[in-house]
Amino acid sequence: MIYLDWTATSKPLKEVVEVYNKMNEEYWYNPSSMYKNAAIVKSLIDRASQSIFATLGLHDKSIYYTSGATEANNMAIQGFVMPYKNQNKHIITTEIEHASVYNVFEFLEKEGFRVTYLKCENGMIDLDELEKALTKDTILVSIMWVNNIIGSINPMKKIIDLVKAKSHAKIHSDLVQGICKIQPDFDFNDLDLMTITFHKIEGLKGIGALIINKNLQLNPLFYGGHQQNQLRPGTNDASLIVASAKAIRINFAKTIIHYQYVQKLYHYLVEKLAKFSFIDINKKGDYDLLDGYYSPYVLSISFKNIKAETAMHFLEENDILVGIGSACNEKTKMVDRSVYALTKSETKAYHMIRISLGYHNTIQELDYFIEKLQELGNK
Ligand code: PMP
Repeated sequence: MIYLDWTATSKPLKEVVEVYNKMNEEYWYNPSSMYKNAAIVKSLIDRASQSIFATLGLHDKSIYYTSGATEANNMAIQGFVMPYKNQNKHIITTEIEHASVYNVFEFLEKEGFRVTYLKCENGMIDLDELEKALTKDTILVSIMWVNNIIGSINPMKKIIDLVKAKSHAKIHSDLVQGICKIQPDFDFNDLDLMTITFHKIEGLKGIGALIINKNLQLNPLFYGGHQQNQLRPGTNDASLIVASAKAIRINFAKTIIHYQYVQKLYHYLVEKLAKFSFIDINKKGDYDLLDGYYSPYVLSISFKNIKAETAMHFLEENDILVGIGSACNEKTKMVDRSVYALTKSETKAYHMIRISLGYHNTIQELDYFIEKLQELGNK
């Protein structure tokens, strides 16, 4: 099987599963209980959190473990803005966010917040448009680092500097597709709120994290016990947390080495695909000059005359797995917002497949994929 859907999820590392199993065998006690065994579990969670902070170079932050990035994004955005409800406040996001950000903004619009959706006609936001959108009433700017469909990379350093210079707004970023994949051009400490999830970086599913400034006040999404400062109550799964710290520690250190390898695969793939007249590559500009603007881990292509679903199934019959749009949207069959923002073509946004690479892929695998795609195009 050739897996080309690494953006949807990744296979957990063996070391991560081993840690998870060991934790479940030996340290399965409720970390909130009062006996010694529980205190040990609690200390292992604290150690894991410190390890995540050290890995990402963070200081003066709090970490809240969630069920994944969807919950962390909701918690960040709703949690931060809800105290400002009915005050005619303004919030900013982009038209290419993952649904777990975009749909929250649509909800907040209905709740009375003024919302600006920044355009991404070139894949990434336009800084002039952001500057014009910022007002004294802007309380939150949420802009993703790396897009999960078209792979565009937002200029985070410039965004952070601009927002800080021109407003009092807090900055949130969905870092899911950037962490352990792209070398950041910014300091994570400069974000007020950030979302990560572990199943995309060879960790386990069912756990993500929201990391925020220590002094930042949020409303909880759920009410319950005293766990996690009452902001995200419920019994913590120490096994998942410790396994997650392991996954990020291992892969963050390999960001550059993996990037360089995947970039070679990506250039090879783009060069071959650019010759196929039956598809369009969903990127704008001269491909050779786009390093640094697009992630080599994600490539979206649109078929001129083939349905994405037909292509996906044909590839699957040939043992190749690719995505149609976001894995989270596969059932809803919606036109993909990111591809539409870039191409302004409903047809392209509908007939789109996403090829996403991982450092486990090889040139031989890509050759086989290219051969099968050619076969499909010849049909
Ligand atoms: N944000 C981005 C950019 C994503 O790619 C995804 C996963 N498709 C999510 C958020 C949601 O992550 P999770 O599955 O952990 O809820």
